[in-house]
Order: sequence, then C-alpha cells, then structure tokens
Amino acid sequence: MASAAPAAIKLQLDANLLEVTWQDGHVSRYAGSYLRKICPCAACVGHAPGEREPPSWKQVEGVRVTHVAAVGSYALKLTLSDAHASGIYSYDFLRRSCPSERPDVDDTGLPTLEL
Ligand SMILES: [Zn+2]
Repeated sequence: MASAAPAAIKLQLDANLLEVTWQDGHVSRYAGSYLRKICPCAACVGHAPGEREPPSWKQVEGVRVTHVAAVGSYALKLTLSDAHASGIYSYDFLRRSCPSERPDVDDTGLPTLEL
C-alpha cells in the first residue's frame, strides 16, 4: 500500500535534518548524510537490486540537504550539498527507510559503529 503524503515535512538546516511527520503521528528524522547514503537514484543503486554498492559512510560524511521539493503527491526530490540532486525519495521509500527501523544507525540515521 502506498504511504500517504506526510502530515508535515520540515527541513532543519541548522541541524541538517529532514523531519517527516507521518499521518499516523510517527516522526522520522533523517540526517543529510543518511539521505545521501540511501539515495535511490539509478546512478547510486543501478537499475537492478545489488547492481551497485551504496556510497560508504566516509563518502557521505557531512553531506547536507540544501533543498526539498515535492514531486506530485508521492515523493520528495532532495538537493544535496555534494551537488547530487537526482534522487526521488518516494514516501513509501522514506517510511521504509526510517532510521528507527534500522539497527546500524541512530535515530537520525547516523552510523552507530566507528567509521
Ligand atoms: Zn543518487
């Protein structure tokens, strides 16, 4: 089932966090570097699962979200500080990628292990 458009989307430039409040009240926070790491565009992940490795944490360290734009009612297009702007992050994908669902990152998507 497609995730409904979020109730609220807030880009916190100072904290470098994209905060998404979902219709069910769940709040997801995504650090810029995390969003860069999970970028779903073809250049990052290829056209088939497993075709390309995602960038390493070192490669995405310090990346910031500089601009957010809605794509229709189903996705966000993010502009990132490393000039990467081809990622279309569907709400389904973002909800699935909520850092709180992942064991390897903290609640904003920063790695919990040493780089
Ligand atoms: Zn990408």
